[in-house]
Amino acid sequence: MNGDIIVMGGGIIGLSCALELRRRGLNVTLVEKGPCGGQASGAAAGMLAPYSENVESPDEFFRLCRESLSLYPQWQQAVKDISGVSFEYAETGSLYVARHEADLLALESRLEWQRSWGSGGEILTGSALFAAEPGLTRKAVAALRTPVESHVYAPDLAEAVKRACLASGVRIHEHLGRIELAEWRERVALRAQSGERFEADRLLISTGAWVQEMSETLGIRIPVYPIRGQICAYAWNEEREPLRHLVFTSQGYLVQKANGTLVCGASEDIAGFDTSVTDKGIRRLTEWNKQVLPVLGEVQPFHRWAGLRPAVLDGRPLIGRLDHAGHILVAAGHYRNGILLSPITAALIADSVEGKPLPEWCGAFRPNRFGGVQAGAFS
Ligand SMILES: Cc1cc2nc3c(=O)[nH]c(=O)nc-3n(C[C@H](O)[C@H](O)[C@H](O)COP(=O)(O)OP(=O)(O)OC[C@H]3O[C@@H](n4cnc5c(N)ncnc54)[C@H](O)[C@@H]3O)c2cc1C
Repeated sequence: MNGDIIVMGGGIIGLSCALELRRRGLNVTLVEKGPCGGQASGAAAGMLAPYSENVESPDEFFRLCRESLSLYPQWQQAVKDISGVSFEYAETGSLYVARHEADLLALESRLEWQRSWGSGGEILTGSALFAAEPGLTRKAVAALRTPVESHVYAPDLAEAVKRACLASGVRIHEHLGRIELAEWRERVALRAQSGERFEADRLLISTGAWVQEMSETLGIRIPVYPIRGQICAYAWNEEREPLRHLVFTSQGYLVQKANGTLVCGASEDIAGFDTSVTDKGIRRLTEWNKQVLPVLGEVQPFHRWAGLRPAVLDGRPLIGRLDHAGHILVAAGHYRNGILLSPITAALIADSVEGKPLPEWCGAFRPNRFGGVQAGAFS
């Protein structure tokens, strides 16, 4: 396919879309105001957990997450092959732990609908539970085990996708400072603070928590807000029993990484675009962690950081073309699941650019669904 496209934003979503668009034959330029992977994508825990993240019902968002998980084995291998860079991809399965009898009913009802969607789940109790995860608190009454869930080391994945982009011929411009959309109604022109100008036939906006900056220019409501996630890691030497699964409760998660760290997350704070870490935020995590994994009462995290999740008003990402300007596409607002959702987002965006109709259920992710900035416009 011929044509030029600019991808605005070099997080995991922009990078993955750029790679897939290039694989489908487009000339792709990616522009990033800072370093690629320098925001939410580099902060993420890297869990690929559609079942643990969707506990209520199999809605369109769950379906998107599940389909993306099914793409991961091939996608991550393709990224490794094209980039020549290795990164952790661990098919560990997960445990969603109940610490009170009253939570058991909720696990059982989840088990029922999730099994019909391929989770392969089972409920573990007593000795079976502690054999599966020996370090777990003996106060745990049960856990829903979902064997198909997995995780990646997110900063390395982002770097590998960037390298795969470069190896495939995507032109990447980083550290450009503020970038503005100078023209968009027919052809696209971007003007960077650095003085550079970029032009193309099409534009993909994948600027994460910053996407609402485009609202006024494009004339549509883009209700996307930053939700800060504070997160920490413990050094995990070989004498300590490693965690075998992703471990979730309603309060947070724990995930063992191959680099000898145990990552524990994450807060959900409203703090604007502030990415600082607070003692209060981390204390909440450490207090909770030791109730799940008692050994964590003896140690303190050695590393703390934070990132801004892009949250959309209705909880669903924005994926696809604009109704009133088909050459402008949006892929943003992936909130807690952008690492998981990167392969399916890349595939849907590339299909849209190729003019293929998206499956009907993907209408739930239409970028125009919130209407125009003036009530009624473009809705
Ligand atoms: C603590 C934490 C833990 C998480 N854990 C998980 C997890 O376990 N699993 C999972 O799937 N997801 C997880 N997430 C969510 C995931 O990180 C995000 O959904 C995902 O990174 C969003 O990717 P993105 O590319 O849209 O955004 P970002 O990574 O934020 O990238 C957006 C990029 O756009 C750039 N940009 C902004 N404005 C402009 C502009 N005008 N021009 C050019 N560039 C611009 C920014 O500099 C940035 O680099 C976690 C997030 C956090 C914070």
